[in-house]
Amino acid sequence: MDDCLFCKIVAGEIPADTVHVTERTVAFRDINAQAPTHVLVVPRDHYANAAELAAGDPTASAELVTAAAAVAAAEGYDDYRLVYNTGAGAGQSVFHTHLHVIAGRPLSWPPG
Ligand code: C5P
Repeated sequence: MDDCLFCKIVAGEIPADTVHVTERTVAFRDINAQAPTHVLVVPRDHYANAAELAAGDPTASAELVTAAAAVAAAEGYDDYRLVYNTGAGAGQSVFHTHLHVIAGRPLSWPPG
């Protein structure tokens, strides 16, 4: 996608604080961190949301979760939250699938 911010980060055209890479994923720190650890794991290929990724590339979909677990472990956290916002009404602002990895502070439930 020519105009996709996260495609440009994956391509190295926009800088990001990358913390983990795999064959199918790139993980980088969120620029507006909501916790001591707030990392976004994205597929290298463009899918608009988590369901489209799961349907179109189940291997990459699974790899997002294993990459997220690796990020949390590398930062020293057994407890962490994984979030996919899907749709603008649910808070999605970038329409390239991304899995939020949030850790390092008490996480209440339900989320806001
Ligand atoms: O789930 P949502 O689509 O709202 O998440 C997008 C996330 O991307 C936000 O948390 C925002 O801070 C982050 N972001 C970023 N780097 C950018 C633009 C947005 O980390 N250049």
